Amino acid sequence: MSSSAAHNEASASARRAGLGLEFALGLVALPAVVYYLWICMRYHGGALVFPTSRTQLGELLREVPLPTWKAAAIYSIWVGAQLFLQLFAPGRWFPGAPLDDGTRLKYRLNGWFSWWLTLLVVLVLIWRRVIPATLLADELGAILSVANIGSLIFALYLYVFPSLHKTAPSAERRGGFFHDFFTGVVLNPRLGSLDLKFFCESRPGLILWVLIDLSLAAQQLELHGRISAPMFLVCIFHFFYVADYFLHEEAILSTWDIRHERFGFMLSWGCLVWVPFTFSLQAQYLVRHAHELPLPATVGIVALNAAGYFIFRSANLQKHRFRQSPTAPIWGKRPTFIRTARGTQLLTSGFWGIARHLNYTGDLMMGLAWCLTCKFGHVLPYFYFIYFSVLLIHRERRDDRHCAARYGADWDEYRRKVPWRMIPGVY
Ligand code: NDP
Repeated sequence: MSSSAAHNEASASARRAGLGLEFALGLVALPAVVYYLWICMRYHGGALVFPTSRTQLGELLREVPLPTWKAAAIYSIWVGAQLFLQLFAPGRWFPGAPLDDGTRLKYRLNGWFSWWLTLLVVLVLIWRRVIPATLLADELGAILSVANIGSLIFALYLYVFPSLHKTAPSAERRGGFFHDFFTGVVLNPRLGSLDLKFFCESRPGLILWVLIDLSLAAQQLELHGRISAPMFLVCIFHFFYVADYFLHEEAILSTWDIRHERFGFMLSWGCLVWVPFTFSLQAQYLVRHAHELPLPATVGIVALNAAGYFIFRSANLQKHRFRQSPTAPIWGKRPTFIRTARGTQLLTSGFWGIARHLNYTGDLMMGLAWCLTCKFGHVLPYFYFIYFSVLLIHRERRDDRHCAARYGADWDEYRRKVPWRMIPGVY
């Protein structure tokens, strides 16, 4: 390393260490937000609660769910079963994107099988009355607390024992404790053939999200004697989103999280807690709001979800297939692209010739469709769409900076050819 590079790295490291307070606050604030959302949904009909006195604050704090041994047992069995499936369910091995040193890690893609087998087993357990259909809905608060504690311990493990994971690139401490704990020190932590990040990205969180939805639908049936059309739609939309994820499981290997994000508290907690407990907010809301929708609204919501899905999936597949086979036609024509000085190619046809991140736009359209099923009585069911818009706009800008640094003049040319970021003519 040259002396100026060493100097730059030293000052970047000092900057990151200086961010310790922000990351420490994040460790407290993020779980607090999830608890707050759950409390508002569970005890206040989805209304925002603003305690204005110490007494009210005390009441709010008393509504924070405590972990229970029952919830700990449910969650441990759940994660254990998903681990077992990840390790032993049939599937194929697939190479990930090349790492900086040119090597590729192999991933066991058995999500499609694991997803259906999990659903089948849960169905049989409910049918045989081993567990009630409302189990997850009834225990949701306690399971949330167990998942929070579990993911905190897991992130500590990742931070304290990075050397257990002998995969390229090696562990790197780049800032102070809070920075490294929060953002992670290892890119691809592995125990033998088990890739911890790849596993957590989908199995224990994403599948749990759908099961929570279905359990909440069962709770609505118990409370109101029927499952409302909005609840039905939300369950179907989420079910379809996650099924699609597993059907195209290999596509996750080229995503930002897998390729560039180190595995620390932010990502592990995000996958294990944030996803199942905030993505299910619409279903949590609908349990106690069993309204119906007029037919035109239902048709509009279904159309918005279908259009969003088409854009999201087609854009992701176009890029994925183009990277595998650059001459395969897109929309019946030979694809156009920019050949970069780094050797990779940037697609400029199909959705990637209309805007630079239409895959994000499609994802957001689906998110909006899910929220609209809750009508307009409260703002909290729209939390997903608001948070996701912020996340994807921030992500698009971060990716843009990353690609500008990576591709230099070639990225400038791509920006000239495709000037819109996410919505042609608007943004
Ligand atoms: P992308 O799949 O859009 O990947 C961005 C990367 O693709 C860039 O860094 C660059 O990498 C490459 N690239 C960019 N433009 C081109 C082009 N024109 N031609 C070829 N390659 C290009 O981003 P993400 O990984 O963030 O997202 C993947 C999907 O996951 C999205 O649909 C998103 O909506 C979804 N998502 C969902 C989340 C959720 O919580 N539900 C959270 C985050 C994402 P390279 O270095 O290879 O050139």
